Amino acid sequence: MPASLAIPSRGLFVTGTDTGVGKTAAAVAIVRWLVAAGHRVGVYKPVASGIAAADEPGGDPRRLWEAAGRPATPAAVCPQVFPAAIAPARAAAAVGLAVDDPLLRTGLAAWKESDIVVIEGAGGLCSPLGADTLGVDLAAAIGYPIVVVDAARLGAVGRNLATARAARAAGLAVAACVLSHVAPVAGDPADPASDEAIVAAARADLERHGLAAPVVILGHGADVFRPPLDWWRAAG
Ligand SMILES: [Mg+2]
Repeated sequence: MPASLAIPSRGLFVTGTDTGVGKTAAAVAIVRWLVAAGHRVGVYKPVASGIAAADEPGGDPRRLWEAAGRPATPAAVCPQVFPAAIAPARAAAAVGLAVDDPLLRTGLAAWKESDIVVIEGAGGLCSPLGADTLGVDLAAAIGYPIVVVDAARLGAVGRNLATARAARAAGLAVAACVLSHVAPVAGDPADPASDEAIVAAARADLERHGLAAPVVILGHGADVFRPPLDWWRAAG
C-alpha cells in the first residue's frame, strides 16, 4: 500500500477456498456482528462480475452495503462492476474494458473514516482479479488478516489448509476459517457421512493439522456463527 493512501487501520479480508462457497453470506454476517457491536463499518468489494451495477439488488456490493447500514454509496462499495459472470478480467474484456488494477487498492480509501472495513474478495484466494493482480496479491498489499470461507462439505480440511498456507506464505495472518452451509443441512447427524458430522470432524482435523485459527460454522441462511467469534478482536 502506498504510505500516502489512508485506509482504516483495522480490517478483515474475506476470501474463499473457491467461488460459490458462501463468501458473501459470511461477510454479511461478520458485518452485521460488527455493526451490532457499535462500530462504523466500511464494506468493500474491489471488483464484481455477474452484475449490471453496484446497486443491483441481490448483488454482492448491495448485500454488503445493506448489512453495513447503507453507508456512503454502493459505488463506493464496489467501484468496478462487469456484467458477465466470469473472472473479472475476462468479464471486463467481454465489454471492451479492462480491470483498473491500481483502483483495486486505492478504492479502499473511500472507507478511511470507518472504524473497520470488511473486504470481500472475488473467487478464491489465488483467483485473478485483474490482468496483473491475484486476490492474494491484493490481500498482501492491504495487509489485513484474512477470513477463509469454505463450503461446509467433504474436502474442507484440504481446501482450508491449502488456502491458509498460501495466505501465510504471502505474509498474511489468518483470523478465522468459516465453514458455510451453502445448502440446507441434510442427513442424520449420527451418520458420520452426514453434513453435520463431516463439519464437526473437519473442525477437529483442522486443529490437529495445524490450522492455528478459530473455525466457526455458519448455518444455511443463518446470521450468527457457531461458536460465536469476536470479529473486532479477530481483526486486531
Ligand atoms: Mg460473493
